[in-house]
Amino acid sequence: MFDWSDFVQVLASTNIEFEHLKVVELAQAILESGWGTSKLFKLHGNPFGMKYRPEMSQIASPIEYDASDGKGIYCKFATLSDAVKGYWIFIDRPIYSGWRDNSATPEDFIRFIAFAGYIGGPFDGTEADRERKEKYINKVLNLIPEAEELLENANSSPIEKPIWKNKGVMLEVGHGPNPNGWEPGAVGVGGVREYDLNWVAAEAAKSVLDEVGVPCIITDFGGINGNGLYNIGRTAANYDVFCSIHHNSATVNAQGAEVLVHRTKADAEDLELSSLMSAEIANELGIRDRIANGRDPGLNLGVLSGAEDTNVRVSVLAELYFIHVPVPDTTDWSTRGGEAIARAILKWLAKTSSSNWN
Ligand SMILES: [Zn+2]
Repeated sequence: MFDWSDFVQVLASTNIEFEHLKVVELAQAILESGWGTSKLFKLHGNPFGMKYRPEMSQIASPIEYDASDGKGIYCKFATLSDAVKGYWIFIDRPIYSGWRDNSATPEDFIRFIAFAGYIGGPFDGTEADRERKEKYINKVLNLIPEAEELLENANSSPIEKPIWKNKGVMLEVGHGPNPNGWEPGAVGVGGVREYDLNWVAAEAAKSVLDEVGVPCIITDFGGINGNGLYNIGRTAANYDVFCSIHHNSATVNAQGAEVLVHRTKADAEDLELSSLMSAEIANELGIRDRIANGRDPGLNLGVLSGAEDTNVRVSVLAELYFIHVPVPDTTDWSTRGGEAIARAILKWLAKTSSSNWN
């Protein structure tokens, strides 16, 4: 069963082309679903009373449904995110072509699509049809203040039940500044520097976490003289997850992802995040998951030694892929690898969060 407040939450946190039109999308959903009480919404995730059209096959499946105005074939959405995006695919069909030129205000937009055919087909020139369309437009416009309020409240709490327990996620950019001077890490094909790619991956991971409201900071702390890596790890104190981000290099022709833990200080939770993350990166990039294939994830890494000596819940070091062998596009790979890191962290946080609210 789909839940109305989940729908509002998903709509609020989804990026759409014209942010200022979200209120219309929500106002129409309120009107068509009766604040989420329609069966079409509850059972099929469709709050818009949206009929099925061939163009919708990319995001919805057809379902026969008996609506108040008769039986028809409607859109069934697998997720609420599909419903939010499906609305705009519906609007992008030829019947509404030109809507972007009529989207300066919510009113311009709803007027344009109502007359283009959203309500009772394209305007037929009669007074009766004009009245019908104006009536609908007014109903939608009257709901806009309430839609605005719902979206505002939703935006203030992106995740209702926090899946993190402490300060959230710390991503550490490997190499760069360190106590003994600046160093680039590994240097790959074409002179690409590991340090630069570590930043690309860290920023991509952070943006995924930001989007769902999980607190995340990136650190590029260089440590303190004499005990650099260990002290970098110590900054993980009070975080849920510490992840040091690296790219690999070797003298043999290897390709694959691996996520390491401290050899003696890691526990079962560190190992679980290691295998989740290694699988997620390997799957995203279509490369070998070295951890799943027998590589021992435990190594005596100074940065993880420092992290494990704090109260951080888990700490890992991700080696996204090998940069000494050619890949199609390092920036693209590191971006996608970074996003995979974030997804694995979210999976781990969600899995271990239940004690938060029982
Ligand atoms: Zn490295």
